[in-house]
Amino acid sequence: MDNVVIVTGAGRGIGAATARLLASRGYAVCVNYRSDNASAEAVVAAVSATGGRAFACQADVSVESEVRALFDAAEQRFGPVTHLVNNAGVLFCQSPLAEMSVERFNKVLTTNVTSCFLCSREFVQRAKYPGAIVNVSSVAARTGSPFEYVDYAASKGAVDTLTKGLSLELAARGIRVNGVRPGFIHTDMHADGGEPERVERLAPQIPLQRGGEPEEVANAIAWLLSDEASYVTGSFMDLAGGK
Ligand code: NAP
Repeated sequence: MDNVVIVTGAGRGIGAATARLLASRGYAVCVNYRSDNASAEAVVAAVSATGGRAFACQADVSVESEVRALFDAAEQRFGPVTHLVNNAGVLFCQSPLAEMSVERFNKVLTTNVTSCFLCSREFVQRAKYPGAIVNVSSVAARTGSPFEYVDYAASKGAVDTLTKGLSLELAARGIRVNGVRPGFIHTDMHADGGEPERVERLAPQIPLQRGGEPEEVANAIAWLLSDEASYVTGSFMDLAGGK
């Protein structure tokens, strides 16, 4: 049976690097995106150019009906979905909690946590065989991101708890669920937080003295999805240069 993976939020950054790497390892890849069709199609084109299989599929993964449609589309294109990477996530401008709106707080929770719940549920309901899920959390789940994005940090704490609980629910079915916790990765997300050069600013405080590349996170995700990690479930891998 083919390895078929959905990578959410795969038009750019960590998701795009993961989609490209998994395709190079023989997975048929559903490149999910929310709004940036051109970037998602560029990922698909890069995969196709190297002989891999991928297609772009628009869906807001925080919306139940769109998640169902996303899985339907992936299944129609490539067959049953065997692997899932819950990568889509957002953060907003750096701000102390006291100045955050409830609309912002709820948007962060639905995009980062509800999406993970909905995609995982859809995956589990359809899964007929062993498989694997990787949830993309953040070191923020450990640090709390004070004065920057406590909302985002709290959402990633919830992702970690979901990862742990679901891993225990699914272990007997042979479906492994693990998490990665990146930090300080060179992507466009920091511009969304209002500080495009955030990684450079923090680099001297990172034990490895530099930011990380999306491909370095993708390597960990690919390993956790693979049979090489066959005895690993409910685990978290930090990718934050030693922080
Ligand atoms: P990014 O460059 O901002 O990319 C995020 C992607 O998520 C975008 O392509 C966006 O799609 C997609 N997305 C957002 N909301 C979505 C939704 N509702 N439905 C579907 N797709 C959606 O982010 P990144 O830095 O690669 O981060 C990827 C993951 O790693 C996130 O979960 C993030 O929290 C986590 N992370 C990143 C860092 C870091 O330093 N970069 C550190 C820790 C954790 P569109 O562009 O099409 O809207």
